Amino acid sequence: MGVIANERSVLSHSLWAATANDAPDRPALADDVTSDCVIIGAGFTGLSAALHLAQTGARITVLEAETPGWGASGRNGGQVNPGLQDGPDALEAQFGPEIGRRMTDVSGGGGDLVFGLIAQHGIDCDANRVGWIRAAHTRKALDELESLADQWRARGAVVEPLSRDELTRLLGVNDYLGGTIDRRGGNLHPLNYALGLADAAERHGAQIFGDSRVMGYTAKDGLVTVKTAGGSVTAPKVLVCTNAYTGDLGKPLGKSVMPVTSVQVATAPLSDNIAQSILPEGHAVSDSRRVLIYFRKDAAGRFIIGGRGATRDASVRARQAALRAKAEQLYPLLKGVEWTHAWGGDVALTRDHLPGLHLLASGVMAGLGYNGRGVGMATVMGKVLADWASGVPDDALDFPVTKVRPIPFHQFRNLGLGPTVAALRLLDRVGL
Ligand SMILES: Cc1cc2nc3c(=O)[nH]c(=O)nc-3n(C[C@H](O)[C@H](O)[C@H](O)COP(=O)(O)OP(=O)(O)OC[C@H]3O[C@@H](n4cnc5c(N)ncnc54)[C@H](O)[C@@H]3O)c2cc1C
Repeated sequence: MGVIANERSVLSHSLWAATANDAPDRPALADDVTSDCVIIGAGFTGLSAALHLAQTGARITVLEAETPGWGASGRNGGQVNPGLQDGPDALEAQFGPEIGRRMTDVSGGGGDLVFGLIAQHGIDCDANRVGWIRAAHTRKALDELESLADQWRARGAVVEPLSRDELTRLLGVNDYLGGTIDRRGGNLHPLNYALGLADAAERHGAQIFGDSRVMGYTAKDGLVTVKTAGGSVTAPKVLVCTNAYTGDLGKPLGKSVMPVTSVQVATAPLSDNIAQSILPEGHAVSDSRRVLIYFRKDAAGRFIIGGRGATRDASVRARQAALRAKAEQLYPLLKGVEWTHAWGGDVALTRDHLPGLHLLASGVMAGLGYNGRGVGMATVMGKVLADWASGVPDDALDFPVTKVRPIPFHQFRNLGLGPTVAALRLLDRVGL
C-alpha cells in the first residue's frame, strides 16, 4: 500500500498505510443485485454495522468509494477514547435519566466494544488497552478533567486522577499539572483495525465492494435502490456511513457535519534508550490545550503526534512542521530523530458536539459526527445502526434518532479562507 491512494500528496504519506496488513482486492460492483441491507462507506461505522449484521445471518452489501479504511478510519491517531465530549451529567441533564443514561453507557462502553471485537475476531492491529491519558496544562483544565473522572467513577467506570508526579513518570515530561487516566481506553493500529473488521464481516458472509462510489438512491414500495457507476443494489434497509466524506450524498446530511482536517507526523522507530524515556508504558495522550495535540508511540516505537490541520497544502505543511517542533520542545530527545511520515484526514464536527443518528428517508438511516472520537464511537454507532436495520424500534435504540441539523455558513468552508466563525466555535469546543 505505502501511501493513501487518490489523496493529495500532503495528506497521503500515512504511517498506517505504510505498515498495513495485506488486504485482498475488493473489485467494484458490476451488477444489479438485491440484499437485506446496503451499507455505504467502509470505515469503522460501516464495517462495524456490517459485522454486527452479518453475524445475524443477514445478507449484507458494503459499497465503498475507495478501499476499506480509506477515510478517517484508516488515518487517525488510533486512540480509543471512551465517552463523548459532554460528560455523563450533561448528557443525563440534556436527554433525561433514561436515554441520557443509555447514551452514557453505550459511549463509555466504546473501549469494551472495540477491544471485545478485536479479541472475538482475532483482529491483528497492535491493540494495547493500556488506558487513555488526558493531561492538563492549567488548573481549570485539571478541575474539569477531575470532575469528569468523578462523574464516570460514580457510574462504575475506572477513570482515575493522575498526580503531577505520576503523569511525569508515564509521559516522560514534566509539562503538565496533572491529569486523568481512563482505563477503558488504549490504542491500536487504526487501518489494521478497519481491515480486520472488513475481513471479519466477510468471514460472516458480508460482501464488500471497493471502487464503488454511491451516486444516489431512490425509494419505492418499501425498497431502496442504491446506484454506483457499475451497478445497483436494492434492499429494504440502507445505512449511510460516510461521515466527514459525505459530500452531497443524502442531502442535506453533509451539511450537518463540518469536515475539518487533522494532521499527524511520525518518526522512525526510536532507539531503545530514547523509547524508554518517552511514554515508557505505551500510553496514548491528549493534551488539554485549546488547540489540542495528541501523541503516542506505535508498536515499533515510532513517536506519532497529531493536531489541527488546514485547507491549503502550504498551510498543511506548516501545521505538520509545527507538530514536529512541538514534539521536539516536549521531548528534546527527539531532536535529530528522522521524521518519516506526514499525513492527515477529515474529522466530522457537529453543531451540538454529539454524533447524529438520522432517518434520511423511509428505510435509510445515517450515523456520523464523532467530533474526533470515532475509534470507539463509530464502532458503537455501527452497532446501533445494525440494531436499527435488524428491526429494533427507534425508541429502544441506545442513541436517539434526531433531525438533520445543517451547520450555518457551511457553504463557505471551502473558500480557502480558513475556518468560518461557525467552524471556529466548533473547533474551540472540541479542542481540535
Ligand atoms: C487525522 C485524524 C486523527 C484522528 N484521531 C482519532 C483518534 O485518535 N481517536 C478517535 O477516536 N478518533 C480519531 N479520529 C476520528 C475518527 O477517525 C473518525 O471519527 C472515524 O474514523 C469515523 O469513521 P467512519 O466510518 O464514520 O468514517 P470514515 O472512516 O471517514 O469512512 C467513511 C467512508 O465513506 C466512504 N464514502 C464517502 N462517500 C461515499 C459514497 N458516496 N459511496 C461510497 N463510499 C463513500 C469514504 O471513502 C470513506 O472510506 C481522527 C480522525 C482523523 C482524520
